[in-house]
Amino acid sequence: MTKKSEGDPTRPPLKPATRLATSGRDAGANHGFVNPPVYHASTVLYPTAEDFLARRARYLYGRRGTPTSEALENALRALEGPACAGVALLPSGLAAISTALLAVLNAGDHLLVTDSAYQPTRRFCDNVLRRYGIATTYYDPLIGGDIAALMQPNTRAVFVEAPGSLSFEIQDVPAIAAAAHAAGALVLMDNTWATSLYFPAFDKGVDLSIQAATKYIGGHSDVMLGTVSANQAAWERLRGTVHTLGLCVGPDDIYLGLRGLRTMGVRLAQHHQAGLKVARWLAERPEIARVLHPALESCPGHVIWRRDFSGASGLFSIVFKPVAQGAVNAFVNELSLFGIGPSWGGFESLAIPFDCTSIRTATKWAPGGPTVRLHIGLEDVDDLIGDLERGFAAFAAAR
Ligand SMILES: *Cc1c(COP(=O)(O)O)cnc(C)c1O
Repeated sequence: MTKKSEGDPTRPPLKPATRLATSGRDAGANHGFVNPPVYHASTVLYPTAEDFLARRARYLYGRRGTPTSEALENALRALEGPACAGVALLPSGLAAISTALLAVLNAGDHLLVTDSAYQPTRRFCDNVLRRYGIATTYYDPLIGGDIAALMQPNTRAVFVEAPGSLSFEIQDVPAIAAAAHAAGALVLMDNTWATSLYFPAFDKGVDLSIQAATKYIGGHSDVMLGTVSANQAAWERLRGTVHTLGLCVGPDDIYLGLRGLRTMGVRLAQHHQAGLKVARWLAERPEIARVLHPALESCPGHVIWRRDFSGASGLFSIVFKPVAQGAVNAFVNELSLFGIGPSWGGFESLAIPFDCTSIRTATKWAPGGPTVRLHIGLEDVDDLIGDLERGFAAFAAAR
């Protein structure tokens, strides 16, 4: 926001909620309107041949950035804090992950990836990176500082994701980052679950923090968008890679990301509260063996969550006591307020059965019973609990 108070070193740094509401805004540039216009743009006209030859212009070309993309980048950068050197916008969360990896790796390099990583991340490593001569080793998400033993002379990057978005192990990111940096490797993090509001990635040693903005930044299940925030050590490589690959995002989708970001703080607080209430209620149910919610002691890495995270979002998993899958399917099918579908982070609740047994290679996933992942949306939490209760009645009838 252009006000003379901005950047005043005598004032204390603004709190996250204030930054969510103010950052990336420039009413002076928008005839006083609160929000920036959506620039649909390719060609930029230069005043003279000399200006064109010298590329003397505020904006060079639509693909290289517009006031619309800058507004979201600036807002996200302010949210990440002073260690963030720049933010790149990508057309999906997966594109943000693949682009960040391409930015920091060369042929012949070695990469360490948590065994709990989002499955399409693994597919990118096992297919594209492998074809380009980059080898990936998967590691136990709970490895902590012992990851030092897995570092090879050519290990250039360590990829963390906390928590895993199905299995919910919380990783010791500071310990892993310390070991990675000691060996000369950069740390990339998929920070989609906590967002920069609940996990300040740069303070914890991360060099490139990735978010599927499709989830909580967008927040309304109507946009595909990814972001990569980079510190000084990684920003130039990231920026160069994004430009060289020709990646950019349509202005309407950027606008939806910016619009969602403004309310992300209050939405996340509600997801946190309601999610925790449902998780605690589920933990008392006789059908449930374990609730994998980072804020509950039953979740691997809970102690680290308490140390490093300032909140929880609305996504967690439940483990049923051993029972036929048919009964679990009956439970999910009976729910009327929870939709069945991929993705999460929108205002609506979701429930999906899953099994990540066959995905793992470094560790064994053996939860002890069928598993369901829940996203707790913004509906009234008592209505959601009532819906789950009806699901358990259908479960009982089907078992
Ligand atoms: C959804 C998701 C992604 C991918 O985001 P898209 O925008 O769907 O490509 C990456 N990481 C995690 C943890 C996710 O849940």
